[in-house]
Amino acid sequence: MKPLLVCTDFDGTLTEEDSSAPLAPGFFQWLHSAREKGGVSWAVATGRSWEGLREALLHHHAPVFPEWIVTVEREIHRVRDREAVPVEEWNRACTEVHEALFGRHSAILERIEKEVGSHEDVTVIPDAGAIGLVVDSPAGIAHAEKKVREILKDRPEIHTVRNGPYFRFAHADYHKGSCLGHVQKLLDLGPASTFIAGDNLNDLSMLTRRYGRYLACPSNSHEDVLTQVKKEGGYLARTPGGTGIAEALNHFFC
Ligand SMILES: [Mg+2]
Repeated sequence: MKPLLVCTDFDGTLTEEDSSAPLAPGFFQWLHSAREKGGVSWAVATGRSWEGLREALLHHHAPVFPEWIVTVEREIHRVRDREAVPVEEWNRACTEVHEALFGRHSAILERIEKEVGSHEDVTVIPDAGAIGLVVDSPAGIAHAEKKVREILKDRPEIHTVRNGPYFRFAHADYHKGSCLGHVQKLLDLGPASTFIAGDNLNDLSMLTRRYGRYLACPSNSHEDVLTQVKKEGGYLARTPGGTGIAEALNHFFC
């Protein structure tokens, strides 16, 4: 097997609804046997912080850790001995860009806090250098989506990162897709050698042929993810979570 980069989201993509179930046994089996045939790097791209991801990997008894991680959907780290080593030049630029962005648009963030946060189902939280929203109900999500769209309509440089009930704000150039592109650059691997899997809206930026020839999503994916992966010629698994990702890997690389 030629060198391959396997990039997966974590929650909902490797994990399944029953959190006591073993973590993606089929996925780890595939990874183990693929590595006996050739080089495979595993990257996880998540909305979690490193601490949150590490805790989840330990909680689920992950047999191995990924070699690369994208945290808070925009920072990149290499993992060595189960510790994260930041990719300094990327993360420094990312921090500077976001400090400048949130500084320039503090009034916009205040408006979001006031106008979106006033809904009873919306909680405003401190998040990744700015504010984030956690929304409890479909009515609250509809309200937040509409209001945020209105407030950010003339601000294309601010991007709303959605994942289930969470809303995060980021610079439009920083997302799972651009981070994966940078990891590819560091590994000197292109889309032709990249498999990508995700289940939610924050995965859409990486689930494209621009970054990977092999795209997949589990059966529990958000409707927009199913639609995009289908449109991009990817594989829609019949099974959920990590079982679905193992199904997709076996489909492409058995
Ligand atoms: Mg997910």
